[in-house]
Amino acid sequence: MIIPFEFEYFRPSSIREAVDLLSEEDSIPIGGGTDLVPMFKDALIKPGKVVSLKNIPETHGIEFDGERLSIGSAVTLTEIAENGVIREHFNSIATTARNVASPQIRNLGTIGGNLCQNLRCPYYRLGYPCHKNGGKKCFAIGGESRWHSIFGGKKCFAVNPSDMATILIAHGAVLEIAGRNDTIPLEELYEGPGELSLKKGEIITRIYLERRENSKAIFMKFRLRGSIDFALVSTGIRIDFDGNEIEDASIILGSVYGTPYRAINSEEFLKGNTLTDTAITKASELAVEGAKPLKKNKYKVKIAKTLVKRGLETLRGG
Ligand SMILES: Cc1cc2nc3c(=O)[nH]c(=O)nc-3n(C[C@H](O)[C@H](O)[C@H](O)COP(=O)(O)OP(=O)(O)OC[C@H]3O[C@@H](n4cnc5c(N)ncnc54)[C@H](O)[C@@H]3O)c2cc1C
Ligand code: SF4
Repeated sequence: MIIPFEFEYFRPSSIREAVDLLSEEDSIPIGGGTDLVPMFKDALIKPGKVVSLKNIPETHGIEFDGERLSIGSAVTLTEIAENGVIREHFNSIATTARNVASPQIRNLGTIGGNLCQNLRCPYYRLGYPCHKNGGKKCFAIGGESRWHSIFGGKKCFAVNPSDMATILIAHGAVLEIAGRNDTIPLEELYEGPGELSLKKGEIITRIYLERRENSKAIFMKFRLRGSIDFALVSTGIRIDFDGNEIEDASIILGSVYGTPYRAINSEEFLKGNTLTDTAITKASELAVEGAKPLKKNKYKVKIAKTLVKRGLETLRGG
């Protein structure tokens, strides 16, 4: 793979060093490079300094103290998929990681990179002069829109493609960001299509989530081919029960909007309810309430509704 520009490559061994390098103009962090390197090759991004996060001890390791799970941002998707503790206590997260891309990409791709990955809109990736490439129009409007947002947008209608974001947000994950004193909810990382709330020099160092009593979670994904493909729609669902009654619900849809999409009406409806057939049908309809599909992606509305319905049925156990 030929990269048509020159850059300096750094492998800092401390967070301080990485943050200093990344505070410089023209620098970018890299995890496994599975998303970035193809973009370098196509000269979509041309940084002068590339800073690897893989040599920093604090970005590695998966730890669980019985209550809180901690995952380093440079942990690979394969490590997550195969980790015994995650499989035992947070199996929906291991399942999600197993459903991302191919084994080769999971071996290299990190969780930090997955959460921060760039847009997959083909116009953007092929270098069309759209808003995201510095141009003045969106080619998906009136063009090929089958992969795009079904919940509207402003200038850009590309979707957030991260499967891991759906299940981790559903689990209430928070991020540790180098240089900040407090963690932030993962949901607050996402500001718009391809827009993150990270400032220059900021990197995700770890991801944390709490184990919940009487909680069940599931990840569902619809894609055209059995493996490798990105989701056309995905969903991460977590339900906390009090007996049969739903105490709390979190339903996050992926690949349907510029950020991971919280099906808030559905969540609100489920709280205090039980998972009857009627409630499941209503919740799945509410999950897509207000959808504004584009010309060629109405089919995604139906898929989103069906995934939520099947996810809730599976969590009920019937
Ligand atoms: C063929 C193919 C199929 C795929 N299928 C799926 C799929 O089905 N589902 C899915 O969810 N994803 C899919 N992906 C995306 C894949 O999961 C990501 O490419 C991978 O997880 C990114 O990880 P990385 O470490 O290689 O990221 P990199 O390429 O290294 O980085 C990606 C982005 O994240 C930033 N970044 C990396 N780490 C950090 C950090 N710690 N803090 C701040 N910013 C950071 C980088 O600057 C860059 O902008 C697919 C990719 C390919 C190429
Ligand atoms: S959806 Fe976004 S990335 Fe795709 S063509 Fe439109 S502006 Fe560009």
